Amino acid sequence: MNREDPALRITELVDLLNRYAEEYYVYDSPTVPDAEYDRLFHELRTLEDQYPELINPSSPTRRVGGTPLSQFEKVVLEVPMLSLDDIFSDGELVQFVNRASEENGISDPEFSCEVKLDGLACSILYENGELVRASTRGDGLIGEDITLNVKTIRNVPLRLKTDNPPSRLEVRGEVVMPKSGFEKMNQEARAAGKKVFANPRNAAAGSLRQKDPKITARRPLIFNCYALGIAEGADLPDNHYERLRYVASLGIPVNQETKTGRGISFCREFYNDILERRDSLPYEIDGVVIKVNSIDIQESMGFVTRSPRWAVAYKFPAREEMTKLIDVSFQVGRTGAVTPVAVLEPVYVSGVTVSNATLHNENEIRRLDVMIGDTVIIRRAGDVIPQIVDVVKARRENASELKAVVFPDVCPVCGSRIERIEGEAVARCSGGLFCPAQNKEALKHFVSRGAMNIEGFGDRIIEELYDNKIIRHLSDIYKLTADTIFDFYKNQSRFKDMKTADDSLLVNKLIESIDKSKKTTLPRFIYALGIREVGEATALSLARYFGTFDAIRGATFDELKKVEDIGDVVAQHITGFFAEEHNNNIIEELISSGIVWDDMPKNEGVEQKFSGMTFVITGTLASMGRNEAKARLQELGAKVAGSVSSKTSGVIFGSEPGSKYTKAKELGIRLISEDEFLELIR
Ligand code: NAD
Repeated sequence: MNREDPALRITELVDLLNRYAEEYYVYDSPTVPDAEYDRLFHELRTLEDQYPELINPSSPTRRVGGTPLSQFEKVVLEVPMLSLDDIFSDGELVQFVNRASEENGISDPEFSCEVKLDGLACSILYENGELVRASTRGDGLIGEDITLNVKTIRNVPLRLKTDNPPSRLEVRGEVVMPKSGFEKMNQEARAAGKKVFANPRNAAAGSLRQKDPKITARRPLIFNCYALGIAEGADLPDNHYERLRYVASLGIPVNQETKTGRGISFCREFYNDILERRDSLPYEIDGVVIKVNSIDIQESMGFVTRSPRWAVAYKFPAREEMTKLIDVSFQVGRTGAVTPVAVLEPVYVSGVTVSNATLHNENEIRRLDVMIGDTVIIRRAGDVIPQIVDVVKARRENASELKAVVFPDVCPVCGSRIERIEGEAVARCSGGLFCPAQNKEALKHFVSRGAMNIEGFGDRIIEELYDNKIIRHLSDIYKLTADTIFDFYKNQSRFKDMKTADDSLLVNKLIESIDKSKKTTLPRFIYALGIREVGEATALSLARYFGTFDAIRGATFDELKKVEDIGDVVAQHITGFFAEEHNNNIIEELISSGIVWDDMPKNEGVEQKFSGMTFVITGTLASMGRNEAKARLQELGAKVAGSVSSKTSGVIFGSEPGSKYTKAKELGIRLISEDEFLELIR
């Protein structure tokens, strides 16, 4: 860096900023965060103020945006589209407000305060009320023709809502992608291995500047007007705010947050209020814009090279920053999911210091092509965990300092094997019953109603006993005695006031239900083990198909796949679970603590008498749960659907049936009472 020589530094900054601007404006793919661009831009502007003789005509401080892409037709902008001057502090706001007052000899001018939407500037021209042309800002004088693309934006009217339209009216505004649409689009893209956008602004810009308007049409974009350009044949009000209201009356969407008022405290309050609500707004903003409201004053204040003097953009703390990836650690969640977590050189992003960020999963590491030692872009928006959205490849100066991120083969918490299932992004620890990261969830599931059904063993007791190391594994439940629990609770200060007699009654009851749960059924026991994706119905199918626990435990992948409803993924979860020795040790302990069940008659050769038929279940069945009924039907070859259609073969109804019953009646579909159903499946 040529920090000492201003001429060299200016040349360096102009080159660098022009390259960043091209990546950002022309190709919609910036390589550094805006905060970095803004810092360099301000450094350049300060140097240019100090050394005006060194100003380079191609300096980004003299220009707006970027050159239009040749793939679009060019549009000459009759009224130039400018940028805005940025401010970042209260002191600068005071200067702006004072300047507006002093220059105009008005002690207290009125301001229009607006949100600064973070998207892409767009001009839309209506002639005699019809949308005839839309354009990007381009370099401020020549934009790109995006008429067909803009016509696909749902909130842009193709015709103005008036019987008496102005002959020519050009509205200017921002095209943005709302946060929800952005998240959804990225999730889908990630799942399909397609391009993921770093932020809603890039997504909006990339979506709008498409050669094929059909692609734009599929993207959730919206337009908000913030200014007028050409206005012919219109009788316009004399202030900016009223002009926006006029535009809104023609059916053009205008942002609802805009407010007018006077004085520094009004502007300050607006800034603070919007900053506080930033996360709850449905679209991304990067600050507020403060404009002098009177058109007369605007005209007398005029413009400098690239921006009006009567408006400023008061920027919010940046959502994205650059920092170094120092290491990657691996966290194990309650379901065993192993998540890579970036360990970062601490960096200040949107108001807090961030030193960790999620890297989601192995695919994401590959997609980003990130290495330990890289300079990365961190994004922190709202309450969402900070994420690495990009790698600044240009900063990979010293390849020898970079290290590949290696995903572990064994769980960093318990040492069990890590399982990766084809087609699933998440890698998981296979020690479901043993892994401390997963134990609490495994315990809660084990005691639940459809599983071992231990009455009185609520989540809170599990949390307390677990956190105090009284139980760790499932097998510890059967080692509990009334004395252990009672002693534990007696020593907890918050239980001191409880009546001892009642307490002991509750504890004895709990021990009784633990004891009672030892007599169970094979499907319940399998379900209670909490194998991923093995719900009650699958557990029942497994029990019926194999008959004994040992047969299930010993089943191969191919054998498991013969069971109705079990596909590759579930079969792999089951084999993975039983392949883990840690899990088997706990199962052995459970069995030796006295858990028993009756084996089930094998049904390998069961006649598929409902093959090709589809049933729907409604209401409450007295003799069995819905999942069990579903499993019984499936075993006999039937499909079970969630809604009634003309293709439904029959509707099984219990007490208090819902609308499905009425619909079946209307369609003349066979209605099957519980008794009839039991007869059918016998
Ligand atoms: P700007 O985005 O800071 O401000 C001007 C723009 O704000 C207008 O053109 C308009 O589109 C928009 N705007 C939103 N709401 C508005 C409202 N209510 N009233 C008026 N205008 C409103 O200026 P710019 O020159 O377009 O771009 C500068 C920004 O782009 C900076 O944030 C900079 O960091 C970023 N940038 C980033 C890179 C990079 O490499 N990351 C490169 C170039 C520029």
